[in-house]
Amino acid sequence: MTELTGGPSLPQERRVVTAIPGPKSLELQARRTAAVAGGVGSVLPVFTVRAGGGVIEDVDGNSLIDFGSGIAVTSVGSSAEAVVRRASAQLADFTHTCFMVTPYEGYVEVCEQLAELTPGDHAKKSALFNSGAEAVENAVKIARAYTKRQAVVVFDHGYHGRTNLTMALTAKNMPYKHGFGPFAPEVYRVPVAYGYRWPTGPENCAEEAAAQAIDMISKQVGADNVAAIIIEPVLGEGGFIEPAKGFLPRIAQFAKDNGIVFVADEIQSGFCRTGQWFACEDEGIVPDLITTAKGIAGGLPLAAVTGRAEIMDAAHPGGLGGTYGGNPVACAAALGAIETMRELDLNAKARRIEEVMKGRLAALQEKHGIIGDVRGRGAMIAIELVEPGTKTPNAAAAGALAKACHAEGLLVLTCGTYGNVLRFLPPLVIGEDLLNEGLDIIEAALERI
Ligand SMILES: *Cc1c(COP(=O)(O)O)cnc(C)c1O
Repeated sequence: MTELTGGPSLPQERRVVTAIPGPKSLELQARRTAAVAGGVGSVLPVFTVRAGGGVIEDVDGNSLIDFGSGIAVTSVGSSAEAVVRRASAQLADFTHTCFMVTPYEGYVEVCEQLAELTPGDHAKKSALFNSGAEAVENAVKIARAYTKRQAVVVFDHGYHGRTNLTMALTAKNMPYKHGFGPFAPEVYRVPVAYGYRWPTGPENCAEEAAAQAIDMISKQVGADNVAAIIIEPVLGEGGFIEPAKGFLPRIAQFAKDNGIVFVADEIQSGFCRTGQWFACEDEGIVPDLITTAKGIAGGLPLAAVTGRAEIMDAAHPGGLGGTYGGNPVACAAALGAIETMRELDLNAKARRIEEVMKGRLAALQEKHGIIGDVRGRGAMIAIELVEPGTKTPNAAAAGALAKACHAEGLLVLTCGTYGNVLRFLPPLVIGEDLLNEGLDIIEAALERI
């Protein structure tokens, strides 16, 4: 069991000993409100002292079941043994030199691992950065340098970050973009195959959505002006939307036919989250570039762009980089996280989580008209909440359900363009008992609301 729980001293149990948040968290929350900018939110203001395996322990002695993984980051747990060991050793050796000043092996080794793990057997290279948004920005820089074109195509419900260019790429106004414009130009948004909400139903969704997207690109932008098409193989913040089968291959083929760089943004869906190393493998897609972050380094800030060597080499020497990009401690952590994923076969764990969750959530859908859709893959599962008997988004129910779960010591997150999706992203190392206990809490909360 020790190897599954990360921090071995942390009991893998739910424990609720105060109101949530408890008195110590409320005290800290008052200090936080005075000192931290109001624009930075928190889903649940309980202050963490320890976390690992499937639990988060707070300052009041509560232990919460974690169905969030710090937004799909701590797939290997928040204190995985190999991550702690390797990052600690690196910390003691040196914290930073700047890879652009004097390089170090860890950075190279992470790039070698990325070449091995990402889809396709072509020659690949990588560049490392600090955050997902930074990786996406750099993918655009690289695609523009390679194609000598400017336009970037993104999709309805897409999320790619909060920097200026990635705000432009992100679909949803509130809270990500509102009041923060003007946004970067040459960004075009087209429909995605969202089966549950496709006007003519899910059957023809892939074909119709692809035809509409391709028509818009061809007629409104001009395919030969497009540098990159960027898509999340499972759309994360937009509501865990799996594009209807057939859509991604059509778009990837269109990109290929027109010399457009096809970028899979796997920042949320990558690294075993969906039961495969990368979600695009599900339909055999081989992206030209792939962006990764979140799950890559067990919680340390690291991100990457990986892709075809000839595309990755298109930017002039010195054109890519950043002071901290590929920090040695973050690289050591990534190597520890990847080691953990391989050793514990976390792809298999993610598929098992899907089996348990989808089985129980499908049964709940039969009973509760407010669950319009159960979807997702691996340990990236969601329920979309609606007004019973309709598809009208029910954000109030999602909020109420999340709140009810939090009060019982289960951390869940919401998402979705309409704010009506409850998403579940447990660490892949969570014990099955905790997983089922979490589902029990969701079931009871559904009965109550
Ligand atoms: C989280 C996320 C990003 C942005 O990553 P940050 O590290 O928060 O900048 C980009 N794309 C996707 C798909 C994401 O889920």
